Parts: sequence; C-alpha cells; structure tokens
Amino acid sequence: MPELPEVEQVRISLLPHIKGKTICKMEVRLPRIIKHPAVPDFIAGVEGKTVTDVRRKGKYLVMMLDDGHYILAHLRMTGAFLVLPQDCLEPPYAKICFSMTGGMNLWFTDIRTFGTLCLCGADDPWQDEGYTGLGPEPLSPEFTEEYLKKRLKKSHQMVKCFLLDQHKIAGLGNIYADEALALAGIRPTRYTDKLTPKQIRSLYEAANQVIAQGLRNHGTTFRNYQDADGQMGNNKEFLMVYGRKDMPCKKCGAILKQIKVAGRGSVYCPHCQK
Ligand SMILES: [Zn+2]
Repeated sequence: MPELPEVEQVRISLLPHIKGKTICKMEVRLPRIIKHPAVPDFIAGVEGKTVTDVRRKGKYLVMMLDDGHYILAHLRMTGAFLVLPQDCLEPPYAKICFSMTGGMNLWFTDIRTFGTLCLCGADDPWQDEGYTGLGPEPLSPEFTEEYLKKRLKKSHQMVKCFLLDQHKIAGLGNIYADEALALAGIRPTRYTDKLTPKQIRSLYEAANQVIAQGLRNHGTTFRNYQDADGQMGNNKEFLMVYGRKDMPCKKCGAILKQIKVAGRGSVYCPHCQK
C-alpha cells in the first residue's frame, strides 16, 4: 500500500502533467471507486474545470480545481495514477479516465479496486472523515517530540497499532511503521504507555528518518507501486526489516521474526528490538 513517501512521489510526478490543464471529459468504468458524490454529479463537477495544484496530506492526494472544489484521492492497496498520451493504448486495470487539455489522459488504475475518489469542498458540506481527522505527519512542524510523548502516554495500545493510526500520526503504513520501530530498537508489541523517555526520543527521530529516507529514494516498490510516469521507487534495498522475514538482521545477524499485530504482519529483530 502506498504510504507517505510513495503518495508524495505520485504528487511530484503528477504535478507537471496536470497543473494548469483542464479536464475535458471524465469516464468512469467502475462506479464504486467514486465515494462521493453520485457519479453523474462527480462528472458534471469536474468536466470543464482546471487543476490549479496537486497537494498531499498523509496518504491522501488532493487535486485542487479552479472553482474551489478538490478531488480527494486515496490509493489504498493498489490504486495508481498514470499519465499517458491520448494516442496510447489504455493501461491495464484502468478504472477511470480524465481526458486533459494538452493531449494527455490521466488514468486511475486499480488491481484490487479499494482506491477511492471524492469531490469535495466549496459549498458541499460533506467531509471525508479519514481526511479531516488526520494527525500531524512526520517531518512537519506539528509533529514534535512533545506531541508524540503526550499521545503515547495517553494511549494504552501496542506501539505498532499506534503508529498505524492515521488520527495520531498521518502517513505511516506497514512498511514505515516496521522500519521506524527497527531503527528505534523497539518491539512492535511494546505498550505505548510503557515506553521510556529514551525510547520515545528514538521513536520520534526514527519516524522522521524513515520517512525522509523513503522520500529521498522516491518511495518503496514491493509489488505494484509506481508513480504517474510509471517509475518505481528504489527504497526497497534500504529497508532493515520490512519484507525480510527469516533473513538476517542487517545490524546483528539474528534471524528476523514475523508476528501479527492488529492483523498486520510485523517483522522485527528479536535481538535489537526490546
Ligand atoms: Zn538485530
């Protein structure tokens, strides 16, 4: 699933293709991708509108339109945006097509079809609860050590679950949560209110570091993730634990273990992570 660095890379790659371009026509092949409003209203709301900017918050992409509305996109498991010239064959798993001025098509493709698009803003009071309730994200001014400490102390849950909760910290998913815990030397099952001040500091620094590294490497591609130009991320080779079950720890050589936390596979080093 694309996490903060991957969605940011999609944003960066989309921007030069669609900023300042007008949506001439929208075609919906799979109506349930459109979460809000009804499909005909969504189409009527975007056709003829110009994209003024592409932003990101947590794992959400936000395409600003010139009438004050915005398209809110969540890629979930396998959603992707791909920009192709209009004379190109359509890409596999194409679910939605925006024909843009300038001769390009913006495709939304999705293999597992959990991705969603909403049209929000302006006079429409409807809000996406996941989006409006997002917590601060790593590397942002709002994400301070003090904030993290306060939220950890107030929670009583396994630290891996805490890191995945987008209302507490936005942008981390299974990859970067496992990586942050590995870098901080903390077990995924450790309870948040039992962490020492030293562990909290390490976790704060690690969350920022793994996200910064993911951004630098244009995201992590495991199976499907690619940006709007079809480029894959190259952060995979830098991962310490994620996807490395039964392989030796890069720090100490111990065999990495995988356990389930909140239904998600979590890989950790039984020697380095306490
Ligand atoms: Zn180790």
